Amino acid sequence: MKYIASWSGGKDSTASIILAHEHGEPLDMIIFSEVMFDKTISGELPEHIDFIKHKAIPLFESWGYEVKILHSDRTYVDCFFRETTKGKFFGTGKRAGFPMTGKCVVNRDCKVRQIRKFWKEIEEDFTQYIGIATDEPARMERVVNADNQTSLLQKHHYTEQMALDLCKRYDLLSPIYDFAPRGGCWFCPNAGYAELKHLRTNHRDLWEKLLRLEDEPNLICNMWNTLTRTRLHDWEERFYWEDQQMSIF
Ligand code: SF4
Repeated sequence: MKYIASWSGGKDSTASIILAHEHGEPLDMIIFSEVMFDKTISGELPEHIDFIKHKAIPLFESWGYEVKILHSDRTYVDCFFRETTKGKFFGTGKRAGFPMTGKCVVNRDCKVRQIRKFWKEIEEDFTQYIGIATDEPARMERVVNADNQTSLLQKHHYTEQMALDLCKRYDLLSPIYDFAPRGGCWFCPNAGYAELKHLRTNHRDLWEKLLRLEDEPNLICNMWNTLTRTRLHDWEERFYWEDQQMSIF
């Protein structure tokens, strides 16, 4: 039996690994699935991927754990410029454009795809550690019903707050928690005010890339959030005027 932890770098999955280390739970491998924006730029926020690669992984390896970073053969940009192969836009030359909230193709093609491939290639029986805390009953239900998944947070009676405190104690809390309650790709259509403001203020080059994508012609989903019909240019205008007000005061 192999024991493998699915790790996102978030507080719950990180706390699960710390618990395995503290309690001598079996753990053969840790897998991290990295979404890529394009062939060279990570889809993870720069400070998060830096935390993953230069802080957390070296520590986990010093504890004796093997860490594998999985990549898909598809990137966000591939999904964005893909011409549709079916439906009413087939043959029109239109490109897919921005992922839809709630139906994110990036999750399917750039994150889950390589994870599925990884599980298929495992020849032994395996148990997967999932970072779900005791105060997440709906998510926990899924683990209880899955054959080969288990939660060390549940086994050791950890709530989300306890998971966060444990990460802090080991100095293993991702810097994303300084400004947002959740992680995710920097181009995520579910991002709220705080995440977008952070991106524009601290990573203007990435922000500009997204703005340029919204100027692309011939897109099926031609705005950043198709559900709320919000354009990134609308956010840009809002932030611009906020900056102007700040400079007046
Ligand atoms: S974080 Fe957002 S953009 Fe990234 S895979 Fe999840 S839903 Fe899609």
